[in-house]
Amino acid sequence: MSETEQTLTCAFHPKRETQLRCNRCNKPICIQCATHTPTGYRCPECIRSQQKVFVTTKWFDPVIAGLITGVIALLGSMLGAYLGFYTIFIAMGAGYLALLATKKAIKNRRSPLLKFVMAGTAFAASLAPTVYYLYAFYWLPGFGLAAGLYTAIWRLAFSVIIASYIYYQLRN
Ligand SMILES: [Zn+2]
Ligand SMILES: [Zn+2]
Repeated sequence: MSETEQTLTCAFHPKRETQLRCNRCNKPICIQCATHTPTGYRCPECIRSQQKVFVTTKWFDPVIAGLITGVIALLGSMLGAYLGFYTIFIAMGAGYLALLATKKAIKNRRSPLLKFVMAGTAFAASLAPTVYYLYAFYWLPGFGLAAGLYTAIWRLAFSVIIASYIYYQLRN
């Protein structure tokens, strides 16, 4: 095989000889065109298309994502509130549903911002009934303390689980 001895010319500068190739599309590139990435040299085209894929959302997508996630998280936390331990499954189910519905609504557009928006709204919206519950719990006499705290802890767990579930599903 004489592939390595073959003279390559840069795909962007036809007159420049080179030994380098883009490690994504395999185009020959000169040292000036090459960008060093953690996984190797990349040509300018691959760098550009990579950045484009990274953020494809429209400006209103985070708003839609927040609304959908907020409603699902709120309903889920109200549903899961009295299920004790099983609220964990409701939380993950609600998180999954929120991701699925959002993906559909914003047509799979992506942005690193979405994980913060969605995890944040999921946490805040599902925590809202818990805050109200604790407030009522504090003011209503004759409420069993142990039972009240037990419910409060699982309610809080719901918020933590749904937010981290969404965050980890979207981290890449
Ligand atoms: Zn390339
Ligand atoms: Zn070049």
